[in-house]
Amino acid sequence: MCLVLAVTCGFRFEVRPGDEVVELEADHRTVHVCLDCLVLLTVHRRIHHMKVEEVIVEMAERRPLVAFA
Ligand SMILES: [Zn+2]
Repeated sequence: MCLVLAVTCGFRFEVRPGDEVVELEADHRTVHVCLDCLVLLTVHRRIHHMKVEEVIVEMAERRPLVAFA
């Protein structure tokens, strides 16, 4: 039996398999973000000079749900 951990992405709140989600950390807070959103965040940081750390903290405070599927 194979249990796949389903994680809710903290950025767009879509549910993804755990292996498509990475953990980001800023200011001692951790959020889970899927690879698609990670690309978005990276692009925004590069092109728009967005402060990703602030976004991470904001996401952490919204408390994304973690569920087992
Ligand atoms: Zn996402």
